[in-house]
Amino acid sequence: MIELSPVRLGAEEERLVNQVLRSGRLAQGPMVERLERQFAQLAGCDHVVAVANGSIALEAALEALGIGAGDEVVTTPFTFVASVSMPLRRGARVRFADICIDDFCIDPARLAEAVTPSTRLILPVHLFGQPADMDAICAIASVSGAAVLEDAAQAHGARYRGRPVGGIGRAGVFSLYATKNLTAGEGGLITTNDAELAGRLRRLRNHGSVQRYEYLEAGHNWRLSDLHAALAVAQLAGLEETNRRRAENARRLSEGLTGLPGLILPKRLPERSHVWHQYTLRVNEEARLDRNQLRERLREEGIEAGVFYPRPIGEYAVFRHHPGLQLTPTPVAERVSREVLSLPVHQHLSEADVERIIAAVRELLCG
Ligand SMILES: *Cc1c(COP(=O)(O)O)cnc(C)c1O
Repeated sequence: MIELSPVRLGAEEERLVNQVLRSGRLAQGPMVERLERQFAQLAGCDHVVAVANGSIALEAALEALGIGAGDEVVTTPFTFVASVSMPLRRGARVRFADICIDDFCIDPARLAEAVTPSTRLILPVHLFGQPADMDAICAIASVSGAAVLEDAAQAHGARYRGRPVGGIGRAGVFSLYATKNLTAGEGGLITTNDAELAGRLRRLRNHGSVQRYEYLEAGHNWRLSDLHAALAVAQLAGLEETNRRRAENARRLSEGLTGLPGLILPKRLPERSHVWHQYTLRVNEEARLDRNQLRERLREEGIEAGVFYPRPIGEYAVFRHHPGLQLTPTPVAERVSREVLSLPVHQHLSEADVERIIAAVRELLCG
C-alpha cells in the first residue's frame, strides 16, 4: 500500500528523545526552548511560543488577541474543523467568506464582502501548504481595523512573496500533529513579531505565572513536553529537504497527470511557495469516474487517497445550528468539497511509487 501520510522517524529523533529521557526533564524545558528558537528562524519572526497542539495554539492566540464573546471572526468554510471551532469555543461570532477555486484559500473578493465594521479578526488558512493571498487579505484587514491571524497548521516553511508564513499577520499558528510536514506527534507553535503578545501567550500557557507561584492572571496549562519537542527539533534541520522532495513529487505528479479529462490539477500560484502538505486535485463531472469512485478504485490498486475536506464546515449540523455561526452561501467551497482528492505526495515516496500513482490514475480515467 502506498500510504497517504506515513510517519517515519529516524536516528536523530531517537537520539534527541533519549537525550530528554536521560535528562530527567520531561515537561517543558530546554528542548522546548530550542524548538522555539529554531522555529523562529524558519518562520522569520521574533517570537515563538510552543503549546500542546495546534488547536490550543489557535485558542491561545485568540485569547491573547482579546477575541472573546460576541467578537466577529471571518474565516474560510473549507478547512480543518479547528479553524472554526476554536473561535466558537471562545464565544466569537463566525462568518465565512468563500474560497478561491485556484488555491482553495479564502477569496479576497469574498472576504471584502464578508467583513463588517464589527469584524475583529480575519483568520485565513494556508490550506494544503500554499499561502493564502496575504497582501490582499492584510489590505482588507487594515482598512477594517481587524487583526489577521494566520492558520499555518499545514504550511511550515511556506513563503508568500518571499516572506515566511506565520510572520505576515499579527500572529500565526502551526500544528505539529503526527501527519503534518513537521511533527512532534502532538504539538503547536504560535509565531508573532509582537513582544507583548508573546509575553501574554507565555503567561497564559503556564497558569498566568512568570515566576514560580506568582500569578498575574488565571491561566491554563497549555505546555508542550520536552519529549514531544525533541521529535520536532530532530526534524527541523531536514524540513527544507522534506518540502523540496514534496515539491518534486508534486511536479512529477502534475507532469504525469496532465491532460486527463475531468482532472483539474493543483495550481501553484505566482509569488507563493507551496510546501505540499497535500497534493489535492479536483475530479469534475467530465471524468469517467467520480471522486469517490476514483478513490475507491485507487485503494483497490494499493494507493491510499484522501478527501480533505468532504464538507464545508457550515454543512455539519452541529455548526449549521450553532448560535455563533452566521451562515452565508459559499458555493465554491460546496463544489470543491465534492470534487477534491488528495494523492500521496510525501517525502518518503520513491520514484517508482510516483510512477505507480500516475499510471493507476491514467489507467482508471482513460485506459
Ligand atoms: C491540523 C490543523 C489544525 C489543528 O492542529 P492540531 O495540532 O491537530 O490540533 C488547525 N488548523 C488546520 C488547518 C489544521 O490542518
